[in-house]
Amino acid sequence: MKSSELETMRKSFNTVKNRSDSIKDSHSSKRLIKLVQEVKKYSIEHKNELFDEICESFRRNDIDVKFAKTSKDALDYIDALLNEYDAKVIAKAKSNTLGEINLKDHLNIEVIETDLGDRILQLKKTDNKPVHPTGPASHLNVREIAKIVNGSLDAKVHENPREIMEFVRSDVLKRLENARVGISGANAIAAEEGSIVMAHNEGNISIVSLKDLHIIVVGIDKIVPTLEDAISVVKLETLFATGNYVTSYMNVISGPSKTADIEKKLLKNMYGAERVVVILLDNGRSEAIEECLYCIGCGNCIVHCPVYNSVGNEFGFNNYLGGLGVAMSKFIEDDETCFNSGLYMCTLCGLCTLNCPLSIPTNEILENMRKLSTDIGFYPKAHGKIKDNVSQNNSPY
Ligand code: SF4
Repeated sequence: MKSSELETMRKSFNTVKNRSDSIKDSHSSKRLIKLVQEVKKYSIEHKNELFDEICESFRRNDIDVKFAKTSKDALDYIDALLNEYDAKVIAKAKSNTLGEINLKDHLNIEVIETDLGDRILQLKKTDNKPVHPTGPASHLNVREIAKIVNGSLDAKVHENPREIMEFVRSDVLKRLENARVGISGANAIAAEEGSIVMAHNEGNISIVSLKDLHIIVVGIDKIVPTLEDAISVVKLETLFATGNYVTSYMNVISGPSKTADIEKKLLKNMYGAERVVVILLDNGRSEAIEECLYCIGCGNCIVHCPVYNSVGNEFGFNNYLGGLGVAMSKFIEDDETCFNSGLYMCTLCGLCTLNCPLSIPTNEILENMRKLSTDIGFYPKAHGKIKDNVSQNNSPY
């Protein structure tokens, strides 16, 4: 990242820090943190039962559910669905999971990002990795953004945030007029109800979910027991990601769009999707050490990380930024990727853990990974050895 981008990113991070610092120590925030810690603990301890329960609940709700052991499995399912709908263009919402499976590189049809920050990065074309899970373009200032939009859309917008927003919005809507498929991730999914919870500020997930087919790709670590639990997870994520209590929108999807208002005859596809498909992605999660599965993706660790603030998204893996991303890369990809994502960049200062609402000991995880690697020779030759030292689980979970 360029030094000017790092500076803009640090400024944006400071804004979030100040906002969240002022509310995260309140009595209700502390209660929420405790509640979500318990929810995640229970979900991890009962992951196999919850996996079975959510599959059953989705089927009961007329939601198609698929299990993808790997990224390739997920992409194969998506390819088949897009073929079935003869999709030429799809509407996409922000999702770390879709970044993890490299959806956009894989597809050779037009994928339109509906989130403004992601759309700006998409138009940027090169060096366009996000810098924060909920503020992907926090490192770009208005001058750079206007240049990107004008350069790639043949526009003449001024360096004015509102003008840029309005131009991009109308361009995105025009491009999506004939799209039949929307694709997104999810913030949390509830096993008992078979519900998918998605938080956003822009209203863009509503656009994605109004297409004929809505595909949702979500990691199995996002399963929690109930809808109340899922909403608590989303509230905590919002608090630590943005410093706000709630997002403008929280969509809860529990089935396809339907009506029975004419003679009680069930008709699908009233306004929303006629078909909802959930792809539950493992991709290394069932082999990951349990601490990693506590993550709710708020990004507060990177906001406080001195390494990340110095080098930016070079420290991390794909859309999984910072130290925890480095740790996850070992399970999603392999030892070499983990090494190249910055295993030895971490200062082990522990600020990530101190600022994580789930108290994930990211620095200790990385320290252990390093130790295991050096015990048997220089990393990444440690392949296989680390796996023997972490909790294993062979279930589909
Ligand atoms: S490790 Fe903790 S602070 Fe970092 S994104 Fe996950 S939950 Fe948030």
